[in-house]
Amino acid sequence: TPGLLERFADRLTGQDSSATVHALSDIDLTVERGEVLGLVGESGCGKSTLGRLVSGIYAPSDGAIRLDGEPVATWRRGTVKKTTTRVQMIHQDPFASLDPRMRVGETISEGPRLHGIWSASEAPARVRALLEQVGLEGAYADRLPHQFSGGQRQRIAIARALAMEPDLLVLDEAVASLDVSIQAQVLNLFMDLRKRMDLTAIFISHDLSVVRHVCDRVAIMYLGRVVELAPASELYAAPQHPYTKALLASVPTLGTGRAAFQPIKGEIPSPLSPPSGCAFHPRCPFAGPRCKAEVPRLGSAPTGQVACHLNDGGTGQDAAA
Ligand code: SF4
Ligand code: MG
Repeated sequence: TPGLLERFADRLTGQDSSATVHALSDIDLTVERGEVLGLVGESGCGKSTLGRLVSGIYAPSDGAIRLDGEPVATWRRGTVKKTTTRVQMIHQDPFASLDPRMRVGETISEGPRLHGIWSASEAPARVRALLEQVGLEGAYADRLPHQFSGGQRQRIAIARALAMEPDLLVLDEAVASLDVSIQAQVLNLFMDLRKRMDLTAIFISHDLSVVRHVCDRVAIMYLGRVVELAPASELYAAPQHPYTKALLASVPTLGTGRAAFQPIKGEIPSPLSPPSGCAFHPRCPFAGPRCKAEVPRLGSAPTGQVACHLNDGGTGQDAAA
C-alpha cells in the first residue's frame, strides 16, 4: 500500500546557516512510496531549495516536511539538525561531491558503517555488489575519484546514496553536468535501478526533456510556487499552465534541432520579491488585470492541478475579484 511519504505544507522558507532566505509559498506535495516525482523549473524557482528542505539540509521556518509523519529536520539553537538518514541526496556536480583523497570503497561504506547499517566485515562485499549494480567493476573500490569520468563519478555517488538504504532519493540536477550521451546512460541506469529496487525519488531538473521518461508525476515550479502538477504523460500531451506550455515550447525536440527553440520572453524576476498576483504575469501572453491583482491557487484541472486564473473558468481579462 502506498503510504504518505512526504508532505510540504503552508509557507516554507528554507534557511541555511548563513541566514540566506529562499522563499517558497503554499507548497503542498505528497510523494507516495514507489513514486518518482519530477520537480521542474528555471533557475531561481526554488526547486533546489525544496530538494534541500526534503533532504533535511535546510529546515523550514514555517510549515513542515515529514517522512512517514516525522519531520526530516529540526531547528536546534538556531541551526538545522537533520533527523534522518532515510533521505539521501545526489547532487549535480560529481567532481565536487566525492572526497578526492578517499578511495571509492571508503566513500561508499563510510555512511552505512557509521550508522550501523553494515558491519566492518560485510562492507567490502557490499561495496562490490553496489558498484556492479550501478554498472561499474567491483575492483574500482580501491581507486580514487580522479581516476573516473564524470558519468562514472555520478554512478559512484548513486552507489553511495543507495548504500544508506534510503526510503527517498533526491536527485538535484543529477545529470545536468554530463554530456548528452552520458546523461542518457545515467538516466537509463536510474530507471533500471528504480525497477529493481522499487525506489522512491524526487527528480529535480531545469530540463523537461530529462524528466520525461523517469517521472510518474511532474510538478512545475515558478518563483517559489508549484504552478502545475500532473501525471507525466498528461503534462507532456496536454500542458495546462501557460508557463508549462512555454517551457515545453522551449525544449528542442529531437530531429527538429534548434529551429524549434523558443526561449520564454522576459527575465526571471527575483524570487525574493516576486511580481504581484500571478508571478508569471509579466511574461504571460494571456495576462489580464486579475492576474496582476490576485494570486491564482492550485486547483483541479482536467489533467491534474493548475494555478492559473484561466483554469477556474474565468480569463485573465476578468476584473479583479
Ligand atoms: Fe497567465 Fe494569468 Fe494564468 Fe498567470 S494567472 S499564468 S498571468 S493567465
Ligand atoms: Mg539548482
